[in-house]
Formats: sequence, C-alpha cells, structure tokens
Amino acid sequence: MPRTILTVLTLVLSTSIAAARDAPELTFGTIDPALPLVAIIATGGTIAERTDPATGGAVPALSGDDLIKAVPGLSTLANIGVLNFSDIDSSQMTPALWARLSGAVDRVLAREDIVGAVVTHGTDTMAEGAYFLDLTLRSDKPVVVTGAMRDASDPSPDGPGNLLNAVTQLLSPSAQGWGVTVTLNGYVNAARDVRKTQTTNVQTFTSGEKGYLGYIYGGMVQRFNDRGRRTDLALPEPLPDSLPDVPLISSYAGSDGRLVRHAVETGAAGLVIVGVGAGNVDAETFAAVQEALHKGIPVVISTRVPHGAVEPIYGDKGGGRTLLDAGAILAGDLSAPKARLLLMVGLMHHGTDHDGLRALFSH
Ligand code: ASP
Repeated sequence: MPRTILTVLTLVLSTSIAAARDAPELTFGTIDPALPLVAIIATGGTIAERTDPATGGAVPALSGDDLIKAVPGLSTLANIGVLNFSDIDSSQMTPALWARLSGAVDRVLAREDIVGAVVTHGTDTMAEGAYFLDLTLRSDKPVVVTGAMRDASDPSPDGPGNLLNAVTQLLSPSAQGWGVTVTLNGYVNAARDVRKTQTTNVQTFTSGEKGYLGYIYGGMVQRFNDRGRRTDLALPEPLPDSLPDVPLISSYAGSDGRLVRHAVETGAAGLVIVGVGAGNVDAETFAAVQEALHKGIPVVISTRVPHGAVEPIYGDKGGGRTLLDAGAILAGDLSAPKARLLLMVGLMHHGTDHDGLRALFSH
C-alpha cells in the first residue's frame, strides 16, 4: 500500500481511537490499531460477584476491568473499552436505571469506531433489561447482554466464557442484524422472546417455541434465525425524572381485585395484569379492571403461561373476550414483565391513546 495512503489511514484511525480513548466514560488499555474497538458496560450481577466468606452470600466484588482480565484471549480479538455503569445485583435494577443505561449505551455506540457493546448484567432481570434496551436504543449497532449463573468464587465460573462468546458474537459477520441479544452458555436469544427458566443452571435462558437466534462454539457463530420485527421507542430527551408508574398484578384462584383497586387509588398510570391460561382473570379482578378502564387507565392483559399468545377466547366474566370488549389491551406473546416495560415506554410516546398503545402490542 503506497506510503501516503498508509499515513492517512493511520492518522484517521489514531484520531478516532484517540477520540474513543478520550471519551469520558470508556477506559481502554493499550490500543492495537489492527483490532476493532468494543465497549464492555458493566452493571453488576453474579458475573461480577464473589462469595463473602463472612456470610457465605455472593456480593458485588469485580469491576469491568477485573472481568476482562479473567478472559484469556479477549485482547487478541478486540480493543476493549470499559464503562463501569453500576455494581448491583439485578434484583435491584429499576426501569429508571435501565433508562439511564440505555442513554449510556447510546453515547458509547455514537462513537464511529466502536463496533458494538457488551452489557454485563445480573440474570434475574436480564431478560426484561435486555428488552428495554432493544426497545429504546437509538443505535443499530449490535449489543450483547451477558452475565453468569456461577460467581467468580465457583470452581467453574461461566462468566469468562460468556464474555468471550459475547465479544466473538459482536465481531461475527453471521451475527449481524440481531439487535440486542441475551447470550449465555453459547446460545443466542432475542431480547424480546428470552426468559430465565432455571434458577441455578447455566443453561437457563431459552426462547421456547421461538427458538434460538444462533449458537457460539470455538470462536464461530452459527446463525439459526433472524430476529422478529423490532418495536422501536427511543426515550424522550432529556430523560424525565421518573417513568410512568405501571404495577404488575397477578390474577389467581380467589384473587379479589383489591390489588387492582389499590394500584388505581395510588395513582397507577397503567396496569399489566398477569392472567391465567390464554389471558383470563377471575370475575372480581375483572370488575376492578373495568373500573380502571372507566377511569381511562390503560390495562394490558398478559399471562403466567410461559409460551403462546393471549387470545380473546372466553366469554365468561373475566375471559379474554370480555376483557378485550371492555377495552383492555392483549399483550400477545410478550411476557408480563416485558409488557409492563412496553406499556411504560408506550405511555411516554402515546399517553393513554388506546389505538396508539394497542398498536404497540399488535405484533
Ligand atoms: N441474583 C443475580 C443477579 O440477578 C443472579 C445472576 O446474576 O446470575 O444479579
């Protein structure tokens, strides 16, 4: 390659690397100009925890830099820039924190030379946290959310391998166009469809009948499927101080609607009801839902059943057909925690406009 072109290219690359390195939020080690730049945004979770000898409980202990030091070979794949966003167990995550995380990820991906981001996150609320990012990120660059089921004190921690796979996926041409994924134990799941299905096993994230997007082994990504159509709802700028209050309330044998009434009395902006079967609730809950709807509060009906969509089948009081006819919105096959986040962000875009909100849940 003629020297002048090489000089120009080196100048451009070093300028953009300097721009990335100078960014206030990312810290890089020694940059290899021959390698791409990837961001790792650490939020906490088991992947960054160790067992506290005093209590025997897993507690936050590792920074983002500690995480990458535990992954042999990572530095041969990419230049890793670390952003320590938080260090909390994901049982403590909130929609407000995810909104801030979405902004931080977008700021990092706005840098031209950053090819994508890994977000390390606890697994307890990872499925809905990844969905929130998929829903709200302005960037189309790949984002891989990963974590671990065994902490760094375990004889065989799964975090390092998951981190290596996440960076491998970001860099793989066969992994493009998947948006935000949840990738653990080699399997790649779409943020919209993934669920945590086992409390302690490393193979906990699956997407059931929707299937995996792909599988990673030996540094290669096998592509099985494309992602489904994306719902794209960027957050307003500047971020509001709080997101709309949308409680999640279960209907169960003998439930009497009191929790629905309490939520309405205490100012809920919307409600998501976790029904049974194909989206049915008891008559008492149905009466309380009707009262909420009459007050103009949007109500979305999901189900505790892990797979399949909510359908307007049953015509008894509280059946899916009566809920739809009363003005409730059916969540389709979106899980209840994700339906809650979609309604929350949807309210920020459409207010309580029924048609606008219903359209969000229609595919
Ligand atoms: N309780 C942990 C968390 O959600 C579980 C994990 O990360 O595996 O942060």
